[in-house]
Amino acid sequence: MQIEPQAFDRVLSSMCTKPHPVAREAAERFLATNPGDPGTYPTISALEEEAIATLGEIAGLEEPAGYVASGGTEANIQAVRIARERAQTRRPTVVMPASAHFSFRKAADVLGVDLCVVPTDDSHRIDLEAVRSAVDADTAMVVAVAGTTEYGRVDPIPELGEIARSVDALLHVDAAWGGFVLPFTDFEWHFGHAPVDTMTIDPHKMGQAAVPAGGLLVRDSDLLDELAVDTPYLESTSQATLTGTRSGAGVASAVAAMEELWPAGYRSQYVRSQNNAEWLADVLEKRGYEVVEPTLPLVAADVPESTFEALRAEGWRISRTATGELRVVCMPHVSREMLASFVADLDRLEVRASVPIPSD
Ligand SMILES: *Cc1c(COP(=O)(O)O)cnc(C)c1O
Repeated sequence: MQIEPQAFDRVLSSMCTKPHPVAREAAERFLATNPGDPGTYPTISALEEEAIATLGEIAGLEEPAGYVASGGTEANIQAVRIARERAQTRRPTVVMPASAHFSFRKAADVLGVDLCVVPTDDSHRIDLEAVRSAVDADTAMVVAVAGTTEYGRVDPIPELGEIARSVDALLHVDAAWGGFVLPFTDFEWHFGHAPVDTMTIDPHKMGQAAVPAGGLLVRDSDLLDELAVDTPYLESTSQATLTGTRSGAGVASAVAAMEELWPAGYRSQYVRSQNNAEWLADVLEKRGYEVVEPTLPLVAADVPESTFEALRAEGWRISRTATGELRVVCMPHVSREMLASFVADLDRLEVRASVPIPSD
C-alpha cells in the first residue's frame, strides 16, 4: 500500500507524472494567484501569455491564441462549444473516433450536441472511409486524436482536415497526452501539418507541470470570441474560460516546466520513454503475450485477468483498455528499473497462477 500520497514508484497507469522540480517550485510560489482575474493578478496573467506562446511553438501555431485550462476535459468541452457556436445547423453533431476520450461524452451532454462515433481500423486509428460516410451538413466538428488514451495512436490528421473542410466543419486535435512527445516524431499532427482549428495539449501530462494545467489552442483568436462572456464585476471585460477562479499554480508551473524542458529536455525524455516502451513490449512479446506495438510511449498487452489482479495486489498501479488488455503508460517517472521489477513480479505471479492446484 502506498502511504505517501504522491509516491510514483509503482504507478504505471497514470497519464500524469511527478512534476519537474522547477514546476513544483513555481506552483508553490503562485498558489494564491487567480489568472481568472487579470486586473487583480497581472503577473500570472502575463505568464499565461508566455505559456500560450510556447504551447503555440510546440504545436506549430504561428499566432498563438488560447488559454491554460484545468485539463484536457475542459479544453475538449470548450472546443466542442466553439464548434457548436460556429455551426450553421440546428442539430450540430461531432464526428469522432471510438478511441476518443470520454470527455467528449461530457461535452455532448453539457452542450446538447450529438456524437457520431466512428470505428477504428486494425491499426487502432479512425477509419477514414467511415468518416467520409459519417459527415454531412450537420457536422460541426471532426475530432482527431494525436496519442490515444488506450494505445497511443495518432489518427490521419491531414486527411481528416480535408474531410472536415469538405463539409465546413472544424477540425479539433486532441493531443492532451501526446502533445509533448509528438514534436520528436515524424507524425503529422499539428497546426502546421493540417488545417487544424482547435487543439487540446496538456502541460500536466507529458509536459511535467503540476496539476491543473491543460491547454486549449485555437488557430485564430476569433474562435476564442465564441466563448467570451462579459464580466461585469472584473476590471477585464470578458472571459473565455469555462471556470472562473482558476489555478495560477498550474499556469506558473506550466511556464516553468516548458522554459526548462522545451525542446531539449522533452526530446531526451521522449527518447527515454519510447525506449522503455519498446523494451517492455519486447520483453512481454518474448513471454508469449500479445502486444500492441507502442508507436508512442504506451504499451498494451493481453495479460490474463488473474495475473492483472495479482499485480494490482502487489501494489502496482496498472489499468486496462476497454477490451481488457493491460496498459502501461511510460511516463517520465517510469524508469527501466521500475519496469524490470514489474516484469520480475509478473514472472513470479504468472508461474504461480498457471500452476494447477492439485486436486486433493
Ligand atoms: C487525459 C486525456 C484527456 C483528459 O484530460 P484531463 O486533463 O484528464 O481532463 C483528454 N484526451 C486525451 C487524449 C487524454 O489522454
